Amino acid sequence: MHAFTYQAATSIAQAVELLAREGEQARVLCGGTDLLIQMRSGARRPRLLIDVKGIPELRALSYDPKAGLCLGAAVSCIEISESALMRRYYPGLSEAAHLIGSLQIQQRASVGGNLCNASPAADTSPALLALDARVRIAGPGGTRELPVAQFFAGPGRNVLGAGEFVTQILIAPPAAHSADSYLRLIPRNEMDIAIVGAGAAVTLEGDRCIAARIALGAVAPTPILAPQAAAALVGPLDERAIERAVALVRAAAQPISDMRGTADYRRQVVGVLARRAILNAAARARDN
Ligand SMILES: Cc1cc2nc3c(=O)[nH]c(=O)nc-3n(C[C@H](O)[C@H](O)[C@H](O)COP(=O)(O)OP(=O)(O)OC[C@H]3O[C@@H](n4cnc5c(N)ncnc54)[C@H](O)[C@@H]3O)c2cc1C
Repeated sequence: MHAFTYQAATSIAQAVELLAREGEQARVLCGGTDLLIQMRSGARRPRLLIDVKGIPELRALSYDPKAGLCLGAAVSCIEISESALMRRYYPGLSEAAHLIGSLQIQQRASVGGNLCNASPAADTSPALLALDARVRIAGPGGTRELPVAQFFAGPGRNVLGAGEFVTQILIAPPAAHSADSYLRLIPRNEMDIAIVGAGAAVTLEGDRCIAARIALGAVAPTPILAPQAAAALVGPLDERAIERAVALVRAAAQPISDMRGTADYRRQVVGVLARRAILNAAARARDN
């Protein structure tokens, strides 16, 4: 691997200053489970790594019944999947974090790293999209927030500007009788990248669905929302509505064929997973 300097930032202001000073030569390091592999292969050659794991705001996971969840970008996937609070209020995001790599990978991998790496197949991204999560970004111009739905710019690319990094992910508290779910397909039990992923969040009023979001992974250049499919669920949540939503999920997918599966296979499977995620989310929502 090429030579580089490592610096552990202890505050958001310090990280912003380091990023601004080194410009393109600097890279944020969190768990390193994507970045170090990219550096080893020569795909990325930063001269300075700025470790953000020691910044208190990035390490905190807090929930307020009115404000919702504030999830530090450096919170690890294992912290998310093992948190009773996360399982209760955001079970779909919790199961997405639980699917990443292995227990060892989950100890290091962060939710912010999964998001910022911007893989079309990243597992937490569809879960975050389904929850309408927002990203808090710090940079030389101060702090800004934007929906996760506006964060991805293409495969491996996000909209962070020069000197910016993600500090927190914000999610509203779940409404009454609402819940989420995330499922993915891989050819073995663990340690593989999703062939397809699907997240769903629904809010029920009796047997009617009054709000829904559906998000898909590994079927487009970025993780995507399927808003028409979600709209088809609003009304009586019966087989007809779900069948309509599944057809619209397949229409929204623009998959490629690669060594993991053909485009046709992905389009077929994404409908199956979306159906299961909708049913899981609805079953949970009824109990909430
Ligand atoms: C064996 C193995 C299995 C894996 N399995 C899965 C899987 O099943 N599902 C899956 O989705 N992923 C998987 N991954 C990929 C990886 O583990 C995840 O994407 C992980 O969440 C990345 O987090 P990290 O903290 O390690 O990120 P890092 O590697 O530290 O960073 C990733 C990228 O994001 C940037 N970055 C990190 N944090 C920030 C921030 N706060 N602000 C701005 N930029 C930032 C870095 O500069 C870098 O470009 C796997 C990786 C390995 C090695």
